[in-house]
Amino acid sequence: MDNATPMLRQYLEIKKQYPGTILFFRLGDFYEMFNEDALIGSRELEITLTARQKESANPIPMCGVPYHAAPGYISRLVNKGYRVAICEQTEAPAKGVKLVRREVVRVITPGTAIDSQLVDPKETIYLAAVSNDRDKYGIALLDLSTGGFEATQIAGQDSLAKVNELLGNYAPREIIFPMSAQQLASVFSGNSLAQGTLPSDHSATSAPLLQGSSTPVDDLFFHLADSRSNLVAHFGTKDLSAFGVDEKDEAVRAAGACLRYARETQKAAIEHISDLKYFETNDCLVLDAVTLRNLEIFDSRTGDKRLTLFGVIDETVTGMGSRLLRVWFARPSIKRSEIQTRLAAISELIEPMLRQKVRFLLKEVADLERLTGKINLATATARDLLALNRSLKQTPEINAGLADAASLLLQVLTENIFELPEIREYIDRAIADEPPVSLADGGTIRDGFNAELDELRSISRSGKQTIASFEEREKERTGIGNLKVRFNNVFGYYIEITKGNLANAPDDYERKQTLANAERFTTPELKEWESKVLGAEEQIIKIEAEQFNLIRLRIREETKRLQATARALATLDTLCALAEVASKRDLVCPVLHDSDEIEIKNGRHPVVEASLNSEFIPNDMYLNNSTDRLLIITGANMGGKSTVLRQIALIQILAQVGSFVPATSAKLPILDRIWTRVGASDDLASGRSTFMVEMTETAAILHNATPRSLILLDEIGRGTSTFDGLSIAWAVAEYIHNSPEHSAKTLFATHYHELTELAENLSGAKNYQLTATEKDGDVVFLHKLQKGKASKSYGIAVGKLAGLPPKIIERAKEVLEKLEKYELAVFADEKPAGLGKAAAQRVASQVSLFAIANEGVVDQLRALNVESLSETGAKEILAEMKRRIV
Ligand code: ATP
Repeated sequence: MDNATPMLRQYLEIKKQYPGTILFFRLGDFYEMFNEDALIGSRELEITLTARQKESANPIPMCGVPYHAAPGYISRLVNKGYRVAICEQTEAPAKGVKLVRREVVRVITPGTAIDSQLVDPKETIYLAAVSNDRDKYGIALLDLSTGGFEATQIAGQDSLAKVNELLGNYAPREIIFPMSAQQLASVFSGNSLAQGTLPSDHSATSAPLLQGSSTPVDDLFFHLADSRSNLVAHFGTKDLSAFGVDEKDEAVRAAGACLRYARETQKAAIEHISDLKYFETNDCLVLDAVTLRNLEIFDSRTGDKRLTLFGVIDETVTGMGSRLLRVWFARPSIKRSEIQTRLAAISELIEPMLRQKVRFLLKEVADLERLTGKINLATATARDLLALNRSLKQTPEINAGLADAASLLLQVLTENIFELPEIREYIDRAIADEPPVSLADGGTIRDGFNAELDELRSISRSGKQTIASFEEREKERTGIGNLKVRFNNVFGYYIEITKGNLANAPDDYERKQTLANAERFTTPELKEWESKVLGAEEQIIKIEAEQFNLIRLRIREETKRLQATARALATLDTLCALAEVASKRDLVCPVLHDSDEIEIKNGRHPVVEASLNSEFIPNDMYLNNSTDRLLIITGANMGGKSTVLRQIALIQILAQVGSFVPATSAKLPILDRIWTRVGASDDLASGRSTFMVEMTETAAILHNATPRSLILLDEIGRGTSTFDGLSIAWAVAEYIHNSPEHSAKTLFATHYHELTELAENLSGAKNYQLTATEKDGDVVFLHKLQKGKASKSYGIAVGKLAGLPPKIIERAKEVLEKLEKYELAVFADEKPAGLGKAAAQRVASQVSLFAIANEGVVDQLRALNVESLSETGAKEILAEMKRRIV
């Protein structure tokens, strides 16, 4: 672009400083994109591609969007993983100035896109930073919209897998990492990142990633000493000990990078980031991504969010309440005192009068958390301040409502709900009732707030009045009845006379513009009033902008108290929501105890219950770490095995969230982790087969489960041949049962009826069944959990229910009959009738796995010559046999 105009040179200069972004370059009322950005913009936004310097040998591709519609276009680009740099004119165009100053005022990236148009009120947008030094990783997570800032450090064996798991749970929109650590890229989103799709070459053309993008940044962002000093300077503390990260170098590096990235993209004070919380990945009831999915906590298999645990429980009335509740579900507590205080508060809020009053007031509370963020990021509008004011106006009544609260948590909350009367009064005084969307339209600041503004407004008003009376005077003076005095942005004020009346125009009229049917004039007097009015209006807009900025800064001083209030109101909202669900869905307060027993009476599955048209059949459940630690659940297809299995986990999660639970009573311990393994779910995306996925997940459980964990195994071992699967399922159950350090409470739902033999041989195993009966040839599910083992799977009956053709059902019955007959025949040592050799062998070997496992011992016994044994020899052999039997 040798022949570039000054404007294009300015563009290129700025573009060079913001590699890897699409530059939105403000030109008048448009944001323009050039060159490669224009190609991407026109393609992704479906807007027309044009060119500048069309006639030249090298036309410059160009496209643009109107500035007032920009947020929608930006959000589309950012949602596709692009980063957009917004370049504004930072000085007003003035006479004689050819090129106005322009600067990038903000870079919007997937992890920092927090404008209201870009985010769902119920969703937290995380920006993550990951640092790495050998097997040590630091992870920082920042929610720029509210200032929420957390960090952790993971080290040792499996640390990378843990990093992945954590990122899977938080699902950050954007992950930044040091440019030199390219190996991290492949970790962040499975394989998709490993395909060279990173914007590492700093070109905006790199195909963006859909599942959260990752951004390599200069290694300097992660420099330890700089990170430390930046954090200390930002928080205004002596060191980082108050945040618990002083000794955690990787966490410090990640947090430092996050903060710097936020500052550099926002170009604003980010003082609402007022705290950094260090956490350990295991200081909660750990629910990994697989478990969240299997238990359908946030997402359901059908995609219907209402049919999830969170969907049923989330009765919050504010976005910030919903976001907080989601955090509680993602990381349920393991602190008894925390859980108890929540339960006590809910017990109090069960009282409908109090709850309804508080919820009614909370509905008027806007997203105070994000509004405070916007005030700090200088993106708050006058309407945002009014929303803030309306929210604060609810606080005195909320506090009054809670004045007599007995529970500790509610008392603490009211102490943190600041009513801020001075801020309310200040906004009342400063901001007009119905301010315009944009400051440039004037009328944001209320009359009486600023003397200079009032005076200018009166000049403007009286000037306009004088101009109106000037029109009357001129009509009279000229005798032209249709003479008009009007205003437009280009020509200012003018007198308009139609062609037919031109002869009557006085000599002192100066011609301004000629139209087809009329002439436009001005006079010295009109010019004088015009300059007064326009001068005043220009001043008004300038002063309004200055005043608004001062107001914003004044409110910004209250950031800490606003944040505390926002957090307290969000907590109150979640507690009220949990109380609302408790009363609506008939939940009870669980008892959390130190013993190892899980004892649930009449437990229900809250989501299945909510979606059933018929009555849900409640079930009792009992587990401990000694006699009842492995429950083998068999029963008919569709009998309710999966439901009962998940129900116990959901009840446990609800309890550790601090919620009431669906049962008539529940005594529960505090658990450290819930593991789930559900058979037959493919993970084709990552190229692992059903069985491989199943075994990898099962292995993780076997290595990591503790006696304080709960394991749900639903149909494991089904992805391979019956014997392989059965043997693995058997060995897994036995291993968990027999290894003291991993002996978690385990529920095992299975169709392998052979496994019920385990319960007869393992001291801590128990058989349960979900019964069904047949009526007139149809199966009737009782959904009742009872001791004992199921005798049938009712698979054929379920097939009939599902609409398999009658011919198939008949044939299946026939085959089954033969198989069953043969099974009996095996015991009678008879030859099977009508079965092929392979089928016969297969059935024969399925008869009893116990028999197979103990075959060696039986052989040994057969071969033994009892007569020749001494007493000690006999004892030794007996002891050895006992050791060998399963
Ligand atoms: P399969 O072996 O075929 O996987 P399953 O035994 O795991 O079946 P579930 O999937 O738990 O059966 O339950 C099947 C359906 O039965 C549920 O979708 C629900 O509609 C109903 N159901 C399960 N439990 C109950 C219950 N306690 N009360 C009422 N209906 C229930």
